[in-house]
Amino acid sequence: MVNWSNYKTVFLIIILAPLLSLNKERWGFTGHKQINRIAVFTLPNELIVFYKTYIDYITDHSVDPDKRRHSVQFEAPKHYIDLEFYCPNFPDNFDSIPKKWKDAVSKYSEDSLYSYGIVPWHVSLMKFKLQKAFEAKDYDQILKISSDIGHYIADAHVPLHTTKNYNGQLSNQKGIHSLWESRLVETHLSDMKLLTGKAFYIDDISAFIWKAVYSSHLALDSVFNFEKECSKNIGETNKYTIEERGRSTIKTYSKSFTNCYYEKLDGMVERRLKASIVAVGSIWYSAWVDAGQPKLDANIKLKKQNEEVQRIISTHKIRNCD
Ligand SMILES: [Zn+2]
Repeated sequence: MVNWSNYKTVFLIIILAPLLSLNKERWGFTGHKQINRIAVFTLPNELIVFYKTYIDYITDHSVDPDKRRHSVQFEAPKHYIDLEFYCPNFPDNFDSIPKKWKDAVSKYSEDSLYSYGIVPWHVSLMKFKLQKAFEAKDYDQILKISSDIGHYIADAHVPLHTTKNYNGQLSNQKGIHSLWESRLVETHLSDMKLLTGKAFYIDDISAFIWKAVYSSHLALDSVFNFEKECSKNIGETNKYTIEERGRSTIKTYSKSFTNCYYEKLDGMVERRLKASIVAVGSIWYSAWVDAGQPKLDANIKLKKQNEEVQRIISTHKIRNCD
């Protein structure tokens, strides 16, 4: 006898499979927003008043770099680094990767850098730009760059943003990117304790962000192996489920599979989120210190061209979460 429920499952998998081939562009909007928002509360008194006033802007705009990823030239490589290209025998010779952009261009060529990703170099550049914005007291730029740099710092903390196998496409684990950074965050956010210590001064931003990339890449074995173990334990049939999202139906990872993976990772997602939060706060803080600790006015009138900021501020109430 024909088992129509099996046919239905096969049909849905064929039709909906493309939904699982997500890209390498995001912590998931939830993750990015949480990171920028909570980072505000790591700041010292001299900065927190200003950042709290604009916390909704910094939260909402944490995802801008992903939104413009496909429309702005050279945007995409700012979000990742395929470390296998720069360091084929990782961790051996990791220190020999040129940390200065000019040296990296001489060694690899600009074309290669933009092909294989530049996130750590870009964070250093953005920190310098943020420092300049503080020096000039250019409030529009301070807010814009703070939001953007939070995104890139967070991406550098995601293991799958540091490998050419970014979506498990080379290991028959397609979909793992959004599983790790979106699905797990969305399903387990309420279990996570995301309060971190205070922001601290970082005198060598480049060394700091390269260390974050190193830790991210080091975690990849667990990211891939535990997914395989859970696939084996749960079985292909029970690995996925169909969910209604508004008016659409999507195929996604099942609750039992997601729980298995989250538990095996043993707090990894929470640890990477927390490391991102304190890194974002600390880099904002370090840029401000290096700019000479200018006194910031929380009641500034922003320039006309940044009307969007005004709109967001006027439509959101400032919420305190500490
Ligand atoms: Zn991104």
